[in-house]
Amino acid sequence: MGQGSSDIGSAEASADDVVEATAQIKRTARGAVPVALAFSFIVQFCAGWLVVSRYPELSGLTLISAVAFATFAVLTPMVSLIYVVVRKKGVVQLAESIAREREMSNDAERREFETRLANAFEMARTEDEVIAASGRALNLVTGEDRVEVLLADNSQAHLEQTITSGHDPAGPGCSVDSPEGCVAARRGQTQIFEDSASLDACPHLVDRSYGQCASVCVPVSIMGRTVGVVHWSEPLPKRIDREKVNQLEVLANQLGGRMGMLRVVAETSLQASTDPLTGLMNRRAFENEVSKQRRGGNDHTIVMADLDEFKRLNDAHGHESGDRALRTFVTVLKSVIRPEDIACRYGGEEFVVAFSDCSIDEAVAACERIREGLVLASADGSVVPFTSSFGVAAWGAAATLPEVIACADRALYEAKSNGRNRAVVYSRSTHGQTMEGEQEPEMSNGSALSETS
Ligand code: GH3
Ligand code: MG
Ligand code: MG
Repeated sequence: MGQGSSDIGSAEASADDVVEATAQIKRTARGAVPVALAFSFIVQFCAGWLVVSRYPELSGLTLISAVAFATFAVLTPMVSLIYVVVRKKGVVQLAESIAREREMSNDAERREFETRLANAFEMARTEDEVIAASGRALNLVTGEDRVEVLLADNSQAHLEQTITSGHDPAGPGCSVDSPEGCVAARRGQTQIFEDSASLDACPHLVDRSYGQCASVCVPVSIMGRTVGVVHWSEPLPKRIDREKVNQLEVLANQLGGRMGMLRVVAETSLQASTDPLTGLMNRRAFENEVSKQRRGGNDHTIVMADLDEFKRLNDAHGHESGDRALRTFVTVLKSVIRPEDIACRYGGEEFVVAFSDCSIDEAVAACERIREGLVLASADGSVVPFTSSFGVAAWGAAATLPEVIACADRALYEAKSNGRNRAVVYSRSTHGQTMEGEQEPEMSNGSALSETS
């Protein structure tokens, strides 16, 4: 179906249609003319015979006039009767045909609306875009009427007004605050209230600022779970238009379907980019995020962290304690880094952080705060005490992310060699001799920046 065009009501009869219509009329009227002629002949004959036999003295013009009058007197009530019967039948047929045409036109309009809405939702790539498309659709369906869409928040416990439409910017302002409190959401069925003053009207319809009203509530479901409602409400004497109710149902249905699809995609991509144990990004997602920030002009200092003697911790206290230590490390890490820093679980007990627009000194200070945080985290005995070593490398140390990470890894190796539980900054002169394509290193000591215990 073309955008912005509609064929409804613009059909023109073709030559074939005219031929078919003529044939139908011929079929319907077959035999009517001979019957009418025979009937007319019989009526006139009987009228003539009646006049001649009753008034034999009449002749000439008087006789003709008497026969004509008798014919008229007999035919008039008969023709009137036939007219009344045919008219009645014709009116019924015409009314049925008008109703059929209206039904077909409504069907076509509904299908067109459905198709356009599906197109709009198909183009919407985010929930915000879906909501914006729904707002436009509501304007089409209900015009100036008061409509709002209430959707549940993440907890599914609260309904929030997400879209309002119509001349009243606040919408109907339904006071319902949870899916449980909404009768349409609870029953999972469209609810129609012709009059808010009725005995069985929704309790949320009373005390509307615009007084007694009619209302329609259509539930919005995402993957079988009702998470919201499309709510139309207008003051009486406005009546509920069933066709609008159908379109609101189409809208609610497609809105739920599209939202559900987007949430599944988001969930899947989150799972694909997240480490399930710690909730941190995995390596691939980390690389993507760093590339995105670098395209935005950010600079980075890379820190690689590796928990110390972790195998021993696992062996001594069990894998479950090891897992708890990994989660504790991430909690401490998250409390230290800033929102713009990107952290990932690089593998096993290794983590990499890309500190955004951050000097080496600031990155080292962050490592120190993590080391202090680990000490505090184990102070209450909720986790076995453990430490971590860090290798720090500025982006300038190499050209690409894997190379900078390799530099941080070399510094980390030195932190391990120097006794663990410390941060070492990569220095090309100290750690760079094995880097492919690099010049001969100047030999100097790596800088172990700090040490605890
Ligand atoms: P180092 O101080 O030199 O880093 O010694 P380490 O023992 O930490 O290093 P090593 O590479 O020898 O051992 C890493 C251990 O981390 C081995 C592995 O079982 C453990 N590990 C890796 N992933 C997980 C995990 O998800 N959970 C637990 N509990 N342990 C893990
Ligand atoms: Mg390791
Ligand atoms: Mg380790």
